Parts: sequence; C-alpha cells; structure tokens
Amino acid sequence: MRVPLIAGNWKMNTTISEAVELVGKLLRELDEIDNVDKVLCPPFVSLATVGKLIKGSSIKLGAQNLYSAEKGAYTGEISPLMLADLCEFVIIGHSERRQYFNETDEIINKKVPAALKVGLKPILCIGERLEENEAGLTEEVVTRQLRLALTGIDNLNGMIIAYEPVWAIGTGKAATGEQTNQTIRLSRRHLSELYGKETAQDLRILYGGSVTADNATEFMQQPEIDGALVGGASLKADQFLSIVKQTSRIRQVK
Ligand code: PEP
Repeated sequence: MRVPLIAGNWKMNTTISEAVELVGKLLRELDEIDNVDKVLCPPFVSLATVGKLIKGSSIKLGAQNLYSAEKGAYTGEISPLMLADLCEFVIIGHSERRQYFNETDEIINKKVPAALKVGLKPILCIGERLEENEAGLTEEVVTRQLRLALTGIDNLNGMIIAYEPVWAIGTGKAATGEQTNQTIRLSRRHLSELYGKETAQDLRILYGGSVTADNATEFMQQPEIDGALVGGASLKADQFLSIVKQTSRIRQVK
C-alpha cells in the first residue's frame, strides 16, 4: 500500500518571516493527519528555520533543488551533503529549472544519484510541454525523461516521481484525473520494465499542475495517483490543508 504524499513547493516565495507565518497556520492541523505524508519545500534560506518549527511533528521538509557535486568551487550552489543535514526530500528536474535554468536530462541524471547517495529522497519531476501533448507525444516524452534521469541508477529506494505536465503548472489549467491516471499508469509500466514489477508498484508517483482545493479530490480518487506536488495553492494555508485533508479522507476509503 503506497502512502500518499502531498508536497508544497513554495518556489521563490516567502521571506523567512513569511515562511514562519505560513508554518504557524499549517502546523497543528497538518500534524494531526497521520495517513498522508506532508512535505513542505520552502526556499533554501528558510529550510533551517522551517525545520526547527516542524521538529517533533509529522511534517517533513524538502528542498527545491541541489547541485550534484559534494563540495567545491561552485559559487552560489547548494550541495547534497549540506541538504542531508537539513531535510529529507529534494525536488529535482522541476520544469521551471528545465525551462529557465537550462537543466537537461543529463544534468538531472547527475543530481538524482547525488541526492540518493546522501540519503535524500528525490522528487523527480517529469512532464510534457503543451506542443508535445498536442502532438500526442506525452508517453514518449515522459518515458524518455524517466529513462534518461534514471540511467545508471540501480536502486530506486526512497525515490518519488512527480508527473507534472508543463502546460498545467501555474496556469490554472489542470489535467483531468483520468488523463493523469493513464499517463501515470504508462510511466509505472515503463518503470516496471526498467526495475521490475515490485519496485514499480511500490514507487509513489504524484501529479502536479494547478492542484487546488477544488480539484484535489478528482486526482486523489484515481488509483495510480499517489499524491500531489502543489505550487501556488501550497502558499495558502487553507488550500493546502484542504488538499491534504481531502487526500486523507479518500485514502480511508480507496
Ligand atoms: C509546481 O510548482 O510543481 C506546481 C505544480 O505548481 P502549480 O501547483 O502552481 O501549478
């Protein structure tokens, strides 16, 4: 049985004091929900502060990126070792990094093992662009991204995949639950070919792209969808809480 996971990607939002305020609104109610993994991914500069605030609670912490080297002359970068002391998860290959920071599948393929090596759990993002979707290339794109990101990686322990169609991120135009379920099923089948049925069945695959309190139930009801990576709505405490609560409720009957 895969435990659902809801992660809030705060992106480049919140000062440290705003992060403190947001955690203050989430902490008690999120902590009480025990059948869903809840992960907050604030900006790097707030990781330590948020980490202290959620210490002792059931809420987990994630970073939004890392660099693949352990240390060295890479001005401005953050290494896996630095993060391993601070948090449990790390988002890798988000489409905004692919789009604005030229992250290629090859770069992502260096980051994933670097995270796994220090015990960080990667939330690996994959997803097709609008023109690829319209050309019917969704399956081809996501299986290629998976294959390239995971090349040379034998053990997927701790790994999480987030299927995030690029056209649905931050646009208010979410995919449908059924479409997403189908794409995730195909991705799982591909992972099964690469890693065996058991590993693929155990792996959590999330949906991301304009998830809100209004559409969360549609996604969480689908059998293949194991949670969500939430951007915009994770900055609003009532929205994020509602998404987690809906997931918890559905999980009790799913
Ligand atoms: C994201 O940042 O991964 C995301 C899915 O954003 P949004 O929920 O705002 O579409």
